[in-house]
Amino acid sequence: MNLYELTINEASGFLRKGEISSKELTGSVLDRIDSVEGKVGAYITVAAESAMKQAGYADSEISKGNITPLTGVPLSIKDLICTKGLRTTCASRILDNFVPPYDASVIKKLKKAGAVIVGKTNMDEFAMGSSTENSGIKVTHNPWDLSCIPGGSSGGSAAAVAANMCLGSLGSDTGGSIRQPASHCGVVGMKPTYGRVSRFGLVAFASSLDQIGPVTKDVIDCGILMNAVSGYDPGDSTSVPEDVPDYTSFCKEGLSGVTVGIPVEYHKAEGLDKNVFAAVKNGISVLEDLGAVCVEVSLPHTKYAVAAYYVIAPSEASSNLARYDGVKYGFRDREKSRLMDMYQSTRSKGFGPEVQRRIILGTYSLSAGYYDAYYKKATQVRTLIMEDFKNAFKACDVILSPVAPTPAFKTGEKTQDPLTMYLSDIFTISANLAGMPGMSIPCGFSAAGLPIGMQLMGKHFNEGILLKTAYNFEQATDFHKKKPKI
Ligand code: GLN
Repeated sequence: MNLYELTINEASGFLRKGEISSKELTGSVLDRIDSVEGKVGAYITVAAESAMKQAGYADSEISKGNITPLTGVPLSIKDLICTKGLRTTCASRILDNFVPPYDASVIKKLKKAGAVIVGKTNMDEFAMGSSTENSGIKVTHNPWDLSCIPGGSSGGSAAAVAANMCLGSLGSDTGGSIRQPASHCGVVGMKPTYGRVSRFGLVAFASSLDQIGPVTKDVIDCGILMNAVSGYDPGDSTSVPEDVPDYTSFCKEGLSGVTVGIPVEYHKAEGLDKNVFAAVKNGISVLEDLGAVCVEVSLPHTKYAVAAYYVIAPSEASSNLARYDGVKYGFRDREKSRLMDMYQSTRSKGFGPEVQRRIILGTYSLSAGYYDAYYKKATQVRTLIMEDFKNAFKACDVILSPVAPTPAFKTGEKTQDPLTMYLSDIFTISANLAGMPGMSIPCGFSAAGLPIGMQLMGKHFNEGILLKTAYNFEQATDFHKKKPKI
């Protein structure tokens, strides 16, 4: 077995016993990146030199007995989380040369835990997209079929984890961007409860929806990363001072007493691929065999979720992205001498077409005369969606659904039709609108051999029950053990 194939938990065990060093492990991951990055295209920046330095430091800490479950473990980070001294582009031309002067709170926590950061992963520009095709920097391919998209917007993180180009990764999820690529790449992804993980140093897309979360090879690793990044941070006024449990402690046998709600609407959704339907159905029966009780629940306002999201998220984005004006950060069109011309030209050249579309959409829905019809209406729908979940959770502990309506599609298939692309978020968006935790775990393969994930959603701050359900499912199946041949 190659060291890059290890999970975080396995690697940590070997490091603790002194059977491997972090330098060996990190070297193995960097060699792996060297050999497959040309095919996968998961990374925007590979930080080989600083990673080896961090690995050396981790080895010396381990020799002194200072070890956490992440000490010496090579991880990757989505390129919208600020890393001090390491370029952070958001896959946008406008931030092409941006080197943050500080670390995001999650990065501080990872560094304190001794983790090694091997690089920054590709994504849709400013996290706007579902396929990573909106990256202004490069294309990422799905390691299971290089002609397919890896999902998005954390496509680089999911592809890197699936192709063993890191042991785990941090992504961000505003409408499904951790769960959907995790599903398409056959790995585990969790969007924590809104407020669970600090977003200080996360480049903002839609502030009432964004969350940082882990992308990992299995469920225990997800718990390990959740332990490391969760918790209150005075630097993020939306983070919640709620105790952080040991998330790995939920990875225990036994699902009796757990009630799983199956939303009737989700399984009748238009455009649901039959491979996905079959895999999720099988997932339900596996959970029943493990002792969970499955009941039908109703989320009647789901059908409005995509429409509400695509008003709320662009509205917030139009405000958040106003700061990229060529003055304070990144790219500036120096050919223009008049201020207004400079603003206009910098933003036209710096932002890609999808980002421009969202800024225009958002500005329109927030403008006087349209605000009530669009933005206000969308926030009212959001309240109804929250009520739906509140009612559904009276009858169950976990809600189970597909993650994406189809397996990974071909690169280029949906780029000309943004509306079809937006519909790929139908199952994931509601958790963001309601602020609840959601998780994607591998639950099968399509006839073409592409991975399929199923989604588990829970009540606020109930990540534990998701991990418990996912862990038991994982123990009973071997979907997570299959790896792409690359
Ligand atoms: N695909 C969705 C969008 O384009 C979600 C993106 C995300 O979660 N960052 O907005």
